[in-house]
Amino acid sequence: MQKRGELGLIQQIRRLSTTRSPFVRLGIGDDCAVLRPPRGADVLVTTDFTLEGRHFRRDWHTPESVGHRCLARGLSDLAAMGAQPLAAFLSLALPQEMATTSVGRRWTKGFFSGLQALAAQHHVPLAGGDTAESPASLVLADIVLVGAAPRGRELRRSGARPGDLLYVTGNLGGAAVELDLLRQGKRLPGHPQLFPAPRLAIGRALLSRRLATACIDLSDGLSTDLAHLCEESAVGANLDSAALPIHGSANLTLALHGGEDYELLFTARPGTKMPRSIVGVAITRIGSIAAKPKRGSAILIDGQPLAQGGWEHFRG
Ligand SMILES: [Mg+2]
Repeated sequence: MQKRGELGLIQQIRRLSTTRSPFVRLGIGDDCAVLRPPRGADVLVTTDFTLEGRHFRRDWHTPESVGHRCLARGLSDLAAMGAQPLAAFLSLALPQEMATTSVGRRWTKGFFSGLQALAAQHHVPLAGGDTAESPASLVLADIVLVGAAPRGRELRRSGARPGDLLYVTGNLGGAAVELDLLRQGKRLPGHPQLFPAPRLAIGRALLSRRLATACIDLSDGLSTDLAHLCEESAVGANLDSAALPIHGSANLTLALHGGEDYELLFTARPGTKMPRSIVGVAITRIGSIAAKPKRGSAILIDGQPLAQGGWEHFRG
């Protein structure tokens, strides 16, 4: 019984995974997928959990949004390193009802159609995965993204140097505002908490045009992710609050500490001619990189230590 359910799910995945790629020689159906990365490329791999109750709630997020966000998390990590996606792999544990009831089957279908729409947009095929019945009545997903970047040239968190300028794409705090609306039981038209746009084209432009010295994607919030970049580069940073591109309905706190914006935060040498936008998305200078202080906060905002406000997805 269970075996048949699983097979049905795999066939459903196969039907929905129609995106083709020259880099996937063999996709779903065999014991392994076979990838052939472009010539002269290094292969990059990232993995991200999407856990019900931690990263989404079935009563807040539509199934299409959950599928979209599941893939977007992995794609955003590839974007941060300037990589091109080659293939995605999904391990998915679903409660029994998702295969046996019509409501459940509708949810599963919505999940895959959300994932597939984003996959098609970025030409990344779902090339394999695994399914199982979830023991906990919770939807649990783990996505693996494989990407490629020109050999030895990927963007890292560790390349920032004192004197570099600090930039961010798009605007900040919008996803946190929308999460608050969801918490209040409001329905949303669909941006950016429900359907974040991974900045793949920007990451690749930063790499190919040699614009950036270091880069990270904003999944946990500016304060947390900037701290990661500073840590890996062994530097400090100065933020200018007036320069922050705050989302129209957000505030400074949400722009600094709200997570899930999936914008890119990057640094560049001071002489770099930085475009004002890349593929139509604004690039804003928000501060600069300084030497790492011997003691005290590595990050200052308007000259004062920046408090770390850890982003918890479903706090309060
Ligand atoms: Mg990341």
